Amino acid sequence: MARKLKIGVVGAAGRMGRMLVRQAGENRDCALAGATERPDSEAVGQDAGMLAGIGEIGVAVGDDAAAMIAHVDAVIDFTAPGATVAHAALAAQAGAAMVIGTTGLADSHMEALRRAARHVPVVVAPNMSAGVTLLMALVEQVARTLDDTYDIEIFEMHHRHKVDAPSGTALGLGRAAAAGRDVDLDAVARMAREGHTGARPRGEIGFATLRGGDVVGDHTVVFAGDGERIELTHKASSRQVFAAGAVRAALWTRGKPPGLYAMRDVLGLKA
Ligand code: NAD
Repeated sequence: MARKLKIGVVGAAGRMGRMLVRQAGENRDCALAGATERPDSEAVGQDAGMLAGIGEIGVAVGDDAAAMIAHVDAVIDFTAPGATVAHAALAAQAGAAMVIGTTGLADSHMEALRRAARHVPVVVAPNMSAGVTLLMALVEQVARTLDDTYDIEIFEMHHRHKVDAPSGTALGLGRAAAAGRDVDLDAVARMAREGHTGARPRGEIGFATLRGGDVVGDHTVVFAGDGERIELTHKASSRQVFAAGAVRAALWTRGKPPGLYAMRDVLGLKA
């Protein structure tokens, strides 16, 4: 049996960080080899397993990312863009793979990640769920198969605390639909409707947003034609799916050449 992949989790006290510690601890193909936080975090010095609610695992949360990254095979990062870029540079130096779930990455951050990806495999995905990754591929395929007599509408629902709309995943689904039709999403997107909107233009891709309760994330893509309608839906009921996807991505990087990868690559959905 191959030796266990040594995983390091940065931002280990965050909502996702704790889930990643739990997920890495439960997967028999990997071992949690290190965990870090911001130097000013109260979590520094505490046992990562205790923070994650799985009991003591003998891995203390450190504040020295460079030292931690130097002795792991793969780093999982769900933190913030600036921190992610710094961690990626350290991983490139140390020869560790990076799995990045951090969202809100600007072009300048992506440029820095591409630089790191010249040296190590870097997987970046704003949604690490296997189900959503598959949904994106299916949406692209359906959009490519059907012509624009089928109207594409995308709606999503998230918990009441979410501050941005539409969700990054809804936009990603829009991009997948636009790619299937060979059009630019910005040119055809209708982000919201109100008042006298006029008839729906052919080729438009519409978005609708619902907010409320504790909904983790629901997304539906509708292809509405004359006489029939196809609806593709994904519902996340736990954030654990994102952590599971990230650990799966980390295991997938083993033996891969340097490069920038997406979850579609991890799932084998790209030619
Ligand atoms: P959070 O605020 O609970 O956790 C972020 C953690 O990162 C915090 O504990 C913070 O102290 C830590 N951090 C920040 N800077 C750091 C640094 N320099 N070194 C070490 N640690 C540092 O947020 P969260 O809900 O866990 O989300 C984190 C990120 O993951 C966000 O960008 C969020 O949008 C994204 N996210 C992505 C997916 C996905 O599937 N890709 C799913 C959920 C959340």
